[in-house]
Amino acid sequence: MIVICDLKNENSINKIENIFTINQIKFTYIKLRNKAIFVINAVLSEQILEKITKISNKIKILSLKRKYKLSNSALFNNKAIEFPNATIDKKHFSIIAGPCTIEDDGSLEKTAEFLNNKGVNFLRGGAYKPRTSPYEFQGLGKKGLDLIYTTARSNKMNVVTELMDIRDLDNILKYADIIQIGARNMQNYPLLKELGKINKPILLKRGMSASINELLLASDYILMGGNENVILCERGIKTYETKYRSTLDLTAVSVIKQESHLPIFVDPSHAAGDRNLVPDLSKASLAVGADGLLVEVHSSPDCAICDGPQSLTLKQFDKLYDELKTLAPFFGKNIN
Ligand code: PEP
Ligand code: MN
Repeated sequence: MIVICDLKNENSINKIENIFTINQIKFTYIKLRNKAIFVINAVLSEQILEKITKISNKIKILSLKRKYKLSNSALFNNKAIEFPNATIDKKHFSIIAGPCTIEDDGSLEKTAEFLNNKGVNFLRGGAYKPRTSPYEFQGLGKKGLDLIYTTARSNKMNVVTELMDIRDLDNILKYADIIQIGARNMQNYPLLKELGKINKPILLKRGMSASINELLLASDYILMGGNENVILCERGIKTYETKYRSTLDLTAVSVIKQESHLPIFVDPSHAAGDRNLVPDLSKASLAVGADGLLVEVHSSPDCAICDGPQSLTLKQFDKLYDELKTLAPFFGKNIN
């Protein structure tokens, strides 16, 4: 159950807290959007409910069946995440694009310039890469951050890059406009808790074996610290199918749209693992109600250090972007 009260009403907050303490009721206290929220992991007795109701008629008591509370549309409405030149919300279909990893051979600059000319506002590339094999390229690190930052800024784009290790947070904070948390770290709870303490937008990718509930509970970990700028991302899950890299769970997008107020993006690149599957999956994502895409694009994907086979060529992206732009209004969205 959840008890909500205005954060300004200290008197009520203290009284609610006293009732719980005296009656040995365990609760989690959260401050979010000017509200004091008490989450109680049990059903409160009639007696306790009566005591709380008597404090003030402004106190709200909700019985939320879903395990996740803060990522729940029953509690909060949609809220836009604003950037200087773009908005991420339910009215837009936002494109985050770029190479898998930042490379210092001129390809990032070439890709960024092309994307910017097309109208893309978010440049993504990893400086710290979660590679399955420890023998593969691990990313350019700090040098990569410098490169993506200068490239994005000279093209008036926002930077999206992945944080894997909490020790890199201060560095990433200086360069990123959106911090990506990859599938492998979706359940790194100490990391998620730290991200609750900042207010940079977080792009939280679904773990490859995580359920929708687990994704939304992971998101609650961030929100409960006070950072409500969370963007969820479906990126494919492990199934028995071996024809492609992962199974893109578009039903999850539909479910999340109904159950959560948070924006939900789709990453068709890591799901498909094959650039020729990406355009159709991107259009399907728009049709199913996603609020944006995270898509890998490279100026010469066959020479890419990482994830080349799934990276769109500039020509492929050009066509896809135009198609999405035409289709978006049919789904009540504007591309940005
Ligand atoms: C990525 O986005 O580059 C990535 C490694 O994806 P995921 O965390 O979804 O595997
Ligand atoms: Mn990749």
